[in-house]
Amino acid sequence: MKSVRVVVVGAGVIGFSTAVCIAEALPFCSVTLLAEKFSPDTTSDGAAGILFAAEFPDIPMERQKRWFKYSFNHLLAIAQSKHSPEAGVMLTSGWQIFRDIPADKKPFWSEFVIGFRVMTDSELKRFPDHTFGQAFTTIKCECSSYLPWLEKSFRKAGGQVEQRKLDSLEELINSYDIIVNCSGLGSKTLVGDNKVYPVRGQVLKVEAPWLKHFIRDGDGKTYIYPGIHSVTVGGTRQEGDWRLQADEGDTKGILERCSELELSISKAKVLSEWVGLRPSRRNPRVEKELVWLQGRRMPVVHNYGHGGWGVTLAWGTALEALGLVRQCLHETPLQANL
Ligand SMILES: Cc1cc2nc3c(=O)[nH]c(=O)nc-3n(C[C@H](O)[C@H](O)[C@H](O)COP(=O)(O)OP(=O)(O)OC[C@H]3O[C@@H](n4cnc5c(N)ncnc54)[C@H](O)[C@@H]3O)c2cc1C
Repeated sequence: MKSVRVVVVGAGVIGFSTAVCIAEALPFCSVTLLAEKFSPDTTSDGAAGILFAAEFPDIPMERQKRWFKYSFNHLLAIAQSKHSPEAGVMLTSGWQIFRDIPADKKPFWSEFVIGFRVMTDSELKRFPDHTFGQAFTTIKCECSSYLPWLEKSFRKAGGQVEQRKLDSLEELINSYDIIVNCSGLGSKTLVGDNKVYPVRGQVLKVEAPWLKHFIRDGDGKTYIYPGIHSVTVGGTRQEGDWRLQADEGDTKGILERCSELELSISKAKVLSEWVGLRPSRRNPRVEKELVWLQGRRMPVVHNYGHGGWGVTLAWGTALEALGLVRQCLHETPLQANL
């Protein structure tokens, strides 16, 4: 008989990573993952899934490095195993290029990706509008494959899944002992967090199998990411924009900007358009709190607000959330159940 009942809310890359970490590490807990939307209908499903990050302003650098390093090493092991095709995780090499020399020429994650170096002048010649570039090998994690693969691992570890929209965390108090909130943008209403907001991103999938290297403009708005079945080209970063439908003007702009970086994109067939809302926050929220729900103090572990870097940081923040769940297990009144 499992003595502690844990519920993870959210079936995106953050929810499933966290649920797998908990179910595998704490076999005496029964773990249920509950969400309104599952793959292929989450934000995570459409992410390009390149491992790469920007710095969050108020999180100690050592903690951000840990998140990146744990995620990178976890996915690298998958990319180099027989699970790689099924999990949709692969190594990818390419360039990040800048019109002007960036303030931070050696970002914090450069020590974890493979072979990070400054591009040579002769390499930069193919990008005449850019003056500086970084070459490296990182990971591409395609969530349309990775999420079903995580779900399989979760069920194998004894986890259960329920599809349901929650209007309030109060709906959970009679059935569970610990709530883990990985609801992304849903946290705005579910836990009343006004610091979380959408950053709209539109991308296209194009058929261009001749492209093997990623190209990303350092401004973060234009990128070409070759994947397993197609090439993702993007994008947009529209803060506070909740529109989920594709915008014709955005499509045109994406194709024009990407063709400037790689002329052959203008000849590529567009296979699909997709829009997602990045669950953004000044800093991701990975912390625990005791919440009063119907007169009862309920431990809630939050793990959301990863913005444009959720795939990159999922495993690292999931491990930290697991640590917070362990802490909840050692605190009263939960102890009485053990
Ligand atoms: C165009 C684009 C490109 C991107 N590219 C990259 C990239 O290259 N690399 C990278 O690292 N990241 C990238 N991202 C960011 C990444 O997609 C997100 O950071 C990540 O998907 C967030 O995952 P999540 O699990 O927090 O949220 P989601 O995937 O949105 O999942 C949230 C889950 O919570 C559930 N939920 C919410 N509210 C409720 C409720 N009330 N009741 C029940 N369930 C609820 C939802 O149904 C869903 O299952 C990109 C994003 C976009 C839009």
